[in-house]
Amino acid sequence: MNTHVSNHPSSPKVDHIGVAVSDLDAAIAAWTLITGKSPDHIELVESQKVKVAMFQLGETRIELLWPTSPDSTVAKFIEKRGEGIHHLCLGVTGIDGRLSELKSAGVPLLHETPFMGAHETRCAFIHPKGVRGVLVELNEPAGESAA
Ligand code: ZN
Repeated sequence: MNTHVSNHPSSPKVDHIGVAVSDLDAAIAAWTLITGKSPDHIELVESQKVKVAMFQLGETRIELLWPTSPDSTVAKFIEKRGEGIHHLCLGVTGIDGRLSELKSAGVPLLHETPFMGAHETRCAFIHPKGVRGVLVELNEPAGESAA
């Protein structure tokens, strides 16, 4: 795998950390207790078969992911590995360009073109086998891409 990629004007930030949960109400209660605040946003993401609850924490967020269907990838994750940290999301600029760069560098992508995720963002996942076991999501607010 080619690890030499060009430098980008703005480095990615940790946009959010995705946590797979099997009981959304219980997870919201736990995170409300430890953060001292209620979720900022709750949304059904039909395309991914998940209900999402977001806790904004400074510049980043905790994203609770609750599967709405047994064939959701999050349901399969919980079945295999139990509840817990599911993915790390990097907020990037120019997601389409980033994806084609990663593809040509040989990084295995779960999505070569972004889909619409929660919060009006365009998202794509990198396969964990390309990131030493970490499922990484890239996202960018819709409409901001320089594609
Ligand atoms: Zn996410």
